[in-house]
Amino acid sequence: MNRIQFDFNNCVHVYFKDSSCRNCIDVCPVEDVLYQEDYKIKIKKENCVSCGACVGVCPSEAFSLKGFDIYSFYKNFISQNTNILSCKKNLPCLSVLSTEFMISMVLAKKQDIVLDTGHCSDCFVGSLIHTIKKNLDEANYFLEKLGVENRVVSQEISLKQEGIENKRRDFLKNFGKAAAGVTFWALMPGISSFEEKEEKIKNIVSEKVNITKRKALLENLKNLDIDLSQIDIETENISFTSEKWIDNSVCTNCSVCYNICPTGALKSGEERLKILFEPKLCIKCRVCHEVCPENCLHLKNKLNLNTFLNDTEILAEHVMIPCEECMVPFSYKGDTTLCPRCRELEQEIKDLLKIGE
Ligand code: SF4
Ligand code: SF4
Ligand code: SF4
Repeated sequence: MNRIQFDFNNCVHVYFKDSSCRNCIDVCPVEDVLYQEDYKIKIKKENCVSCGACVGVCPSEAFSLKGFDIYSFYKNFISQNTNILSCKKNLPCLSVLSTEFMISMVLAKKQDIVLDTGHCSDCFVGSLIHTIKKNLDEANYFLEKLGVENRVVSQEISLKQEGIENKRRDFLKNFGKAAAGVTFWALMPGISSFEEKEEKIKNIVSEKVNITKRKALLENLKNLDIDLSQIDIETENISFTSEKWIDNSVCTNCSVCYNICPTGALKSGEERLKILFEPKLCIKCRVCHEVCPENCLHLKNKLNLNTFLNDTEILAEHVMIPCEECMVPFSYKGDTTLCPRCRELEQEIKDLLKIGE
């Protein structure tokens, strides 16, 4: 029985159906499991091997594994003496760990954490080693920037656990193939059925997603005795958050970006006259950039870590006035008192008159 669970309401495609996010489909090591139909991510559960790679890469934590809660696992792990993570000991597959959980584990334990990659080359889902190493490199880049000495280390320990071989054989017999997590799941209690999450209609403006990997990271950054205002990170090296600016001369305050943002990182302030941004909530899903009709949201190359942790930035400020023609309020830029729609209409009429001449 596979363990994958998908909360459709947490997928960014619920917030913007044409989102370019396909992280889960791209990472899944097994063919014919995840696919997109219309705008929805679909799973053929019977083909899933419960590796958890989709759990690790989904920016909005839409996936989970029944019987393995990743945040509870993180909390347990940081309170234990061991610093080794292995698919033969405590995880279904190392790919279930996102960059943010890797960073959080190192910061919370104040020591290196070791990923036992000794089984990756034999594993039939071996392609996940690239994902694991990518997350590891990103975590180490962040830790280096923090000036922390400890790292996430990959070591081919090939840990074996005593006393589970029979269970493992039974599991293999039932499962039919050697998959990531085969030993881990053999140790877990069986499951009978899945609780399918209902695809209820969600109010995307008021119901935002809460991300546990971000909660862990923020808790750890808050506890650091480091002046974060001195640290800038290159945003191209980081997959989990972003820094932005809005071209105020072009922004019409149409409200699409902040209404649609899955986490509430973008929001409106002061009677909807300002567009605010909290980098600590941003998951770099790119939805705001993809929906902006004026293309006026832009990424910045650097993100200051104090800004990431503490600031709410003002990205745009608007003076709204009623259009002198249609009376609909629009963002006044100091020139014309016609709204963009009436301006367009005026131009169309002028063009028609020219053709008539
Ligand atoms: S658990 Fe692994 S096999 Fe199953 S859908 Fe996720 S990535 Fe694919
Ligand atoms: S990775 Fe997550 S947000 Fe992205 S498409 Fe898959 S389920 Fe949706
Ligand atoms: S602000 Fe961040 S989380 Fe919100 S839509 Fe934009 S990229 Fe996604």
